[in-house]
Amino acid sequence: MAPIEGQKGIVTMSTPHADVSVLSPVAGADDEATPCDPKPEIEQASAYQVALGQLDRVAAFMHLDEGIHRSLRSCQRELIVHFPVQMDDGHIRIFTGFRVHHNMTKGPTKGGLRYHPSVTLDECRALAMWMTWKCALMNLPYGGAKGGVIVDPATLSPRELEKMTRRYATEISPFIGPERDIPAPDVGTNAQVMAWIMDTYSMHRGYSVPAIVTGKPVQIGGTHGREQATGLGVTYVTRALLKQRCGRSLDGVTVAIQGFGNVGSWTARTMYERGARVVAVSDKSGGVYNARGLDPRYLQQHLKEHGSLSDYPGADAISNQELLALAVDVLVPAALEGQLTRQNAAQVRATVVAEAANGPTTPEADEILADKGVLVIPDIICNAGGVVVSYFEWVQSLQAFFWDEGEVRRQMERTLLDNLEVAVGTTTRHSCDLRTAAYMIAIRRIEEALLLRGFYP
Ligand code: GLU
Repeated sequence: MAPIEGQKGIVTMSTPHADVSVLSPVAGADDEATPCDPKPEIEQASAYQVALGQLDRVAAFMHLDEGIHRSLRSCQRELIVHFPVQMDDGHIRIFTGFRVHHNMTKGPTKGGLRYHPSVTLDECRALAMWMTWKCALMNLPYGGAKGGVIVDPATLSPRELEKMTRRYATEISPFIGPERDIPAPDVGTNAQVMAWIMDTYSMHRGYSVPAIVTGKPVQIGGTHGREQATGLGVTYVTRALLKQRCGRSLDGVTVAIQGFGNVGSWTARTMYERGARVVAVSDKSGGVYNARGLDPRYLQQHLKEHGSLSDYPGADAISNQELLALAVDVLVPAALEGQLTRQNAAQVRATVVAEAANGPTTPEADEILADKGVLVIPDIICNAGGVVVSYFEWVQSLQAFFWDEGEVRRQMERTLLDNLEVAVGTTTRHSCDLRTAAYMIAIRRIEEALLLRGFYP
């Protein structure tokens, strides 16, 4: 079912997947795809095909019931919205956005909201599915969701960004709610965007509803520690596995990080603070490299002042592809999905790949990395600190009772490491890799919940 130009609020329920290709790019959007952090052209399997392939492989491995497998392949609800926004110069621009609920067996759906020129319905489906597994693996009472708007937020003025956000929030408002679906930041969105969504939703209700989003500013009911949570979680999980598998602490460990947004920069900072040597980082303009190590605080400062990492003094320029092939202890893809592929995985020389991004490694790349003996820490464990702290924020918002940052960190570390331990135990019992183990645990938990609830009606 292809969306019709100008038609608003198309809702498809459990759309068959055969026609996904016709759904992107979406008609009715006037976004010129700005060249922003292009995905490698070499491999064209969409994120959703990758997500389905991962599910299918694990379903076969664990002998998952055929009916349950089929129900998990589909997204339960998919909303497409086209909406007008009056730009600062007076002209009307039509934006296209999405919100997808993959599965709500274990509770309200949870997941980020992405502003990026390459957002598609298909990508939101994949990201929503990955959220379902991540929440189940972390034992959070949530299903998975994801949303997005096709836009490069850097091309909008602050006022345009606010208007677009408020209108998008209005369009998806029947789909979201503190007991229904709770958005959070993702690529291209931040605490300010969450504040506008919270305010818009609250204005419609006539009272403040802080639990409608997570990742909002602390001043309006956000939690301490949410901003750095994903990056700090990457550091906790990587540190634990390095210790377990290589008998090493983070001290002196060399790290290369692709992507220097919220997740990449906080991963850099929190690893650096624990003694790691961050030798390379990159953003969409390219990367910088210094074998003696870079100070993430200066990098952040440079990025803030110059808008990109290029020309950072005291470092050599390298491309994103060169960064992925550096001989480092830990490689951290922290940008978009589909970065490590069949074409470049053989060049990876890292000992550990810590997936801070969602879906950065394709299944073909997974196999190549496994053959090379590279330990891949899968996204649904590695970057789960974000949604874990989102859960803590939601609980605090619902109770209007707030925790200090130490409490947030302790609980996050415990949740991540306890579930990591379960996943590591599963790799040994089933002689499988960490991604397979993590998926099996998540899927079994959802299956149990599904069977207990039964199939309505
Ligand atoms: N966007 C983040 C993720 O992919 C956070 C989602 C959330 O906190 O709900 O995990």
